[in-house]
Amino acid sequence: MTDAQEAPGRPLTIGIDIGGTKILGVLFDPVSSVVIDQRQRPTPRHDIRGLIGAVADLADHLITVAEHADHEHAAGRVTAIGIGLPGLVDRRGILRYGPNVPGVIDLDLATDLQQRFGLPTVAENDAANAALAEHRLGAARGADHVIVVTQGTGIGGAIIVDGRLLRGANGFAGEPGHMLVDRSGPICACGRVGCWETVSSGTGLANLARLAIARGQGARILELAGGDPAEVRGEHVSAANDEGDQEAGAVISQLGFWVATGLGSLITLLDPELIVLGGGLTAISDRFLDDVRSQVMTTVVGGAYRPTVPIVAAALGPAAGAIGGAILAADLPRSDGW
Ligand SMILES: [Zn+2]
Repeated sequence: MTDAQEAPGRPLTIGIDIGGTKILGVLFDPVSSVVIDQRQRPTPRHDIRGLIGAVADLADHLITVAEHADHEHAAGRVTAIGIGLPGLVDRRGILRYGPNVPGVIDLDLATDLQQRFGLPTVAENDAANAALAEHRLGAARGADHVIVVTQGTGIGGAIIVDGRLLRGANGFAGEPGHMLVDRSGPICACGRVGCWETVSSGTGLANLARLAIARGQGARILELAGGDPAEVRGEHVSAANDEGDQEAGAVISQLGFWVATGLGSLITLLDPELIVLGGGLTAISDRFLDDVRSQVMTTVVGGAYRPTVPIVAAALGPAAGAIGGAILAADLPRSDGW
């Protein structure tokens, strides 16, 4: 894909996406938009020093890869690093709070890496980075008013208004997963009750399945989980549905209802031209995305009198956040200008 004749020393960037379970790093060529290498490590739990060490190790590895030419790629040099952090990231790039990385508070990873490697380093919310990648290279190309929602363990979100990321007063804008949608619903990883992600993410799917089991349904789901409701995960619902289990299908329909409910409120609030849905849940069944599309405009005020907002699957897959980090790094020193 890249030109092996290119002069050595071409500028490359590193993007690192820190998730609740894994850390993914990419070595990226911003000129050709090609991912040259990607590596991952498990996320150390309850261990800030371990987390910093794992990220530094990953960056160190990718810097070494960049400096060595191989049959496919000329040697390059890393010019900057961009990090995605799961939670509330302030305007200076400090992670103030992340429900899915318990024990990690006030983490200034950008400054740490900058000192370690002597490279300009920038940090942003992980979903914002995924949105940047989708906006430049993926499903949101050419759109100026976009909501990006990534459904994983929880829900990540980012809002693009007039072609720019909506940051808010502190940098904390765009956390739709923690909008309260059901004050008598399940408890959230953030400690509150009834957040959107408790009924609309991978965790949400498991919660909805447990509620069905408590009503005496979902026998096959429970069986796949080894008979313990506490062990039910989204994958068990998905597997039961793939077998044709109708009660699992009903749980997925409820997920669609809640996803449409939240998206409808976001459309009412923000009037986007496009919604991009990322994460594995969009492919949970053949009908899921169509189910959401068919319901969503009925939840929007004046839905019959306004254009239907297209809901499309993200194009860049699980590496979107890391690629967005690498793009953010390539945009330095004006990384906040997008
Ligand atoms: Zn929450």
